Amino acid sequence: MTQTKGYAAQSATAPLTEFEFERRALNPDDVSIDILFCGVCHSDIHQVRNEWGGAMYPMVPGHEIVGRVSAVGSNVQKFKVGDLAGVGCLVDSCRTCSSCEEGLEQYCEVHSVGTYNSVEMDKKTPTYGGYSKHIVTTQDFVLKVSEKLDLARVAPLLCAGITTYSPLKQWNIKKGDRVAIVGLGGLGHMGVKFAAAMGAEVTVISTSANKEADAKSLGAHRFIVSKDKSQMKASSNYFDFILNTVSAPIDLNPYLALLRLDGTMVLVGVPPEAPQIQVFNLIGKRRRLAGSLIGGLPETQEMLDYCAEHNIMSDIEIIKMEQINEAYERMLKGDVHYRFVIDLATI
Ligand code: NAP
Ligand code: ZN
Ligand code: ZN
Repeated sequence: MTQTKGYAAQSATAPLTEFEFERRALNPDDVSIDILFCGVCHSDIHQVRNEWGGAMYPMVPGHEIVGRVSAVGSNVQKFKVGDLAGVGCLVDSCRTCSSCEEGLEQYCEVHSVGTYNSVEMDKKTPTYGGYSKHIVTTQDFVLKVSEKLDLARVAPLLCAGITTYSPLKQWNIKKGDRVAIVGLGGLGHMGVKFAAAMGAEVTVISTSANKEADAKSLGAHRFIVSKDKSQMKASSNYFDFILNTVSAPIDLNPYLALLRLDGTMVLVGVPPEAPQIQVFNLIGKRRRLAGSLIGGLPETQEMLDYCAEHNIMSDIEIIKMEQINEAYERMLKGDVHYRFVIDLATI
């Protein structure tokens, strides 16, 4: 066991504060990573505040982790001390079910182990995330990170990146497709970058009129203010694909109305309340409503390699660990440009 330091929530209503805890001793397949940066995902807020239910405290959030390998177990071939490494939303899964065999560990039929607010495969040992100085985890769930990119800007790729890359690939987005990204936050801004890199005509649909210039500089071609009914109506039956990243409960029907025949809206945002869908909105144009959860290990590595090749990184604001509670409040106001990243050297 090694002692480490991080920030934890002790309850759904308490602010995050400093927390000392232990990481496990290195097993033969384990990699120990000194965490340099960790991105701040809106899922951290949902979970810290128990908005999805089932929260376990103390909770050390954080699943957008990058750092350097500080030690490796005796079986580890994939990494050596000093290598850059990344850890995303998963740290283990059953590895034998059909989903795991396909490299879709996020859809494991037995149990996929979240990086935090989860339990290991023994179903009892709690996991603690990346708002901490170091992490020990199995090599199979550690990603390779290119030395070419700015490490702080790579961290958000481990969740915001893969969560937007995966559905765009799954729905085969290609040159000329009309793609809308709803919500320009951490996930949304990565969705814009990927969809633009894949050659789509990209529209951002936002509640914040003041994000238009940013949307365009991130790669969007068009911008719609969702509160403006005439702008929304002008794009009725227009899009092939909509990626909805909104974290708060919203009426999905006005967005479904923007899909053309056979168009699909994929939900990646997870507001706590269930949406209400008008069925006519689907059947009238054979529209589809779908969902997508992060990405498996092989696709996450593919995405990181794609980013290194295309020089794609997140737009970030680096914060000190002690600024985390303030960062949450800003995210809740949509005031994030476009991902907060914690510099772990600050604790
Ligand atoms: P974020 O950075 O806070 O961005 C969310 C964006 O949603 C905001 O910037 C805002 O964009 C828009 N928004 C917020 N409140 C709104 C409202 N009341 N009405 C309309 N739009 C609103 O959050 P994030 O980190 O990107 O995460 C987004 C969601 O995805 C969260 O629910 C998170 O839990 C979920 N998530 C899911 C997965 C998955 O695997 N499916 C993975 C990671 C995260 P505008 O200012 O442009 O309107
Ligand atoms: Zn996340
Ligand atoms: Zn499995």
